[in-house]
Amino acid sequence: MTEQEYFRRRRERAAHRRPTRRRPSLLFAVCTAGIVLLLAVVFFVSRSLVADKNEPPWVIAVDPGHGGKDLGAVGLIGEVELNYAVAESLCALLDADPDFIPVLTHTGEGGTPKERARTAARKKADLFLSIHGNSDGTGEARGFECYPELPGHGQHEESLRFAKLICKEMEPLCARMRGEGGIRYAYFDEADTKYFVEAYAAEGIEEPSFGVLEYTKCPAVLAEQCFVTNAEDVVFFASEEGIQAAADAYYQAIKAYFGR
Ligand SMILES: [Zn+2]
Repeated sequence: MTEQEYFRRRRERAAHRRPTRRRPSLLFAVCTAGIVLLLAVVFFVSRSLVADKNEPPWVIAVDPGHGGKDLGAVGLIGEVELNYAVAESLCALLDADPDFIPVLTHTGEGGTPKERARTAARKKADLFLSIHGNSDGTGEARGFECYPELPGHGQHEESLRFAKLICKEMEPLCARMRGEGGIRYAYFDEADTKYFVEAYAAEGIEEPSFGVLEYTKCPAVLAEQCFVTNAEDVVFFASEEGIQAAADAYYQAIKAYFGR
């Protein structure tokens, strides 16, 4: 091979190689840019989600138990009226605080637990409180108890933290803290029979609890703040002072939950 021919072949080979060399480098650049763009999007989206959780204002779903045709417990007073009065007072306290946006799950018409939980989810609630009054046939039972989401269920830990804060605020107002310091668990079997488990004995429970706790997408607690069948409970909790005091106890617990 002559020197001239050698260089000609080398030029030809180089000319053939050039395009194949460029293609991977262009592809590499496009892929890299795509990955960088994707990572940036993931970073900013996750940052904004975290910011939503950790920064005010927080959306608080306030759920007055029962409503519409469902009257709840009827004792010396109607449970549903008491639930609604406390829920309205709590919403007023939250509304006056720029850290919170209160959302009532219904305005007296009730609805199924699923519908009320959906209302809370639609409003992007960060915390859910269902307010109830308790009852028993003898009229003797009295005191406070509340139900966080069950152990083994999605939002259990945070629900329990909220329940403990509620109990701390409620204890000075209540004659008795039922369950373990005011906390109990309840679940239902396939026949819809309700079972109670004391908090210290509860481990992972597979069965469902109260509907609103099951369907809610955020930490949730159902509170039975007094017995509407007990005269002493009713004298205090159905009074204007008692309604305000209960609402304020929930408000203080909500503030403490968010570190305020
Ligand atoms: Zn109830």
